[in-house]
Amino acid sequence: MASLSQILGQIYTMAMLFFSILLLELAILVRGAARRSITTDQFLKIVDQKAPAGRYAAGILGFDAAAECSVCLSPYEEGDEVRKLKCNHTFHKGCVDTWLQQDSATCPLCRRPVLPIDVVVKHRNHRLQEYYDGGDEELMIMLYALHGNFLRRFS
Ligand SMILES: [Zn+2]
Ligand SMILES: [Zn+2]
Repeated sequence: MASLSQILGQIYTMAMLFFSILLLELAILVRGAARRSITTDQFLKIVDQKAPAGRYAAGILGFDAAAECSVCLSPYEEGDEVRKLKCNHTFHKGCVDTWLQQDSATCPLCRRPVLPIDVVVKHRNHRLQEYYDGGDEELMIMLYALHGNFLRRFS
């Protein structure tokens, strides 16, 4: 019969293997995400195609005189850069561009999607990758820490 320390040793080995595989899978996941991502510049270009921006001028684009941006709650001024979404809601270009990047790219007012879902996912992947920047080095340090501990225990 195996002794208690042998059983504990086996459990320890299994746990180490499990965490190593977990870390490697995380790295593979992030690398895969990087290949299926678009930068913020590319993202905003697609926003431009789907909802072109223009200059605000009272009377055009169907604005009434009291029109205001629902994101920052400021009235439009002559010459402001504005973006009109397909749902006919209009916002400052800067306001709605920031919103679209943080949200799942839906209209701040009516929640109708502005972009195809794959574009939203690809940009999210890009942000995940940015968050994980320098991940390889961190991963190696984590693996070394894990296995350093592992080797000490059995030497
Ligand atoms: Zn605004
Ligand atoms: Zn809308």
